Amino acid sequence: MSRSAHPAGPRHADVLPEGHYTAPPADLNDLDPRVWARTVRRDADGVVTVGGMSVAELKEEFGTPAYFLDEDDFRARCRAWKDAFGEDADVFYAGKAFLSRAVVRWLHEEGLNLDVCSGGELATALAAGMPAERIALHGNNKSEGEIRRAVEAGVGRIVLDSFQEIARVAHIAEQLGKRQPVQIRVTVGVEAHTHEFIATAHEDQKFGIALADGQAAEAVRRVLKLDALELTGIHSHIGSQIFDMAGFEVSARRVVQLLADVREEHGVELPEIDLGGGLGIAYTSDDDPREPHEIAKALGEIVRHECEAAGLRVPRLSVEPGRAIVGPTAFTLYEVGTVKELEGLRTYVSVDGGMSDNIRTALYDAEYSVALVSRTSDAAPMLSRVVGKHCESGDIVVRDAFLPSDLAPGDLLAVPATGAYCRSMASNYNHALRPPVVAVSQGEARAIVRRETEEDLLRLDVG
Ligand SMILES: *Cc1c(COP(=O)(O)O)cnc(C)c1O
Repeated sequence: MSRSAHPAGPRHADVLPEGHYTAPPADLNDLDPRVWARTVRRDADGVVTVGGMSVAELKEEFGTPAYFLDEDDFRARCRAWKDAFGEDADVFYAGKAFLSRAVVRWLHEEGLNLDVCSGGELATALAAGMPAERIALHGNNKSEGEIRRAVEAGVGRIVLDSFQEIARVAHIAEQLGKRQPVQIRVTVGVEAHTHEFIATAHEDQKFGIALADGQAAEAVRRVLKLDALELTGIHSHIGSQIFDMAGFEVSARRVVQLLADVREEHGVELPEIDLGGGLGIAYTSDDDPREPHEIAKALGEIVRHECEAAGLRVPRLSVEPGRAIVGPTAFTLYEVGTVKELEGLRTYVSVDGGMSDNIRTALYDAEYSVALVSRTSDAAPMLSRVVGKHCESGDIVVRDAFLPSDLAPGDLLAVPATGAYCRSMASNYNHALRPPVVAVSQGEARAIVRRETEEDLLRLDVG
């Protein structure tokens, strides 16, 4: 991330304050196609459209704040992942990024599988007709009830995360008279974030069973002894918002080494490996994510190379993108309520949502971009902080961004790349009503998750 001052500078600021920002774009009205959903355009009248519908019409029908999701883009991304990995691999969409029944149907139609990590996600997947054998259940502390429902439904994969869970899943499968396919999630000693990965201090986390000190090999031994479990492979997920393939390379090498050790000790070649998700997307113009075909090529080559070196048959590969599929397909639309200038610092722009619809900025300093979408403006850029309406000073949506200096109450702002981990992490803080998710395609818009109402809130409050 570069930190540089714009020579022209915002109004009232000779010296720009600290922050994560680059110079404002030459034209604030431009929409960088890397951070906006595929069908987003600015029309001749200056109003932005998605799926052929203008934000003015969308606001009229659905209000603000609201998430608008480009369905054609979502489906195109599913197909791109599916095509890139081909017939010898499976693409599991990570449902925790954003899940609804419509999304499950799109995934089903586009031939993707689905990762769930709770009873609620499993219920949504099954309610929308995802075949159970295409569902994988994750989680570091699945309840007995969740495991039972998953085994009963016949999910295609349960990813085991601890020694206790090996016994727990085996016991439940035995009771139900089933043989449950499972993978073991290992911690490979790599932790990857955004632009770097760390290959030390890795086992210190709650997920998975460590490869180091023989824990994972011991887990394999235990699972292979249990008739109620069918060990199909090894799973590794190294982090999120990753741009650098080097972390995956180390992960693949260590997982394949475990497969070789398993063959050596038990004489069995496990048929599957799962390298997880975590592929990065562009939140700002500084981010430069890889395309699915580049990722598929890189991962495929690493796995093939490592298997050849170890003399192993190449296992069936699976990957689990969540953010990389849904993240770029949606933006959040807000209405500006107040504009407050702080002399020599920046301008605080308050919108009608905030940390209740996007917690990522407060949670881990996530960076976003933002644009004025209800009109164009030729006014000078002003350094802005887009904040919400909640009772927390950390209630920030976009920490540093340039917006036109004639911004006024009633203008509509859109924050792109909010498809993943925004609605799914939304809260009712301050009794905010969680916004709808509206799917837009070819001139038509429909809420796939409706806006919460005060009646919804009061219904839960049993008095
Ligand atoms: C969260 C998660 C994913 C998806 O991560 P993204 O960053 O959304 O791609 C995939 N696999 C597992 C096991 C996860 O926990």
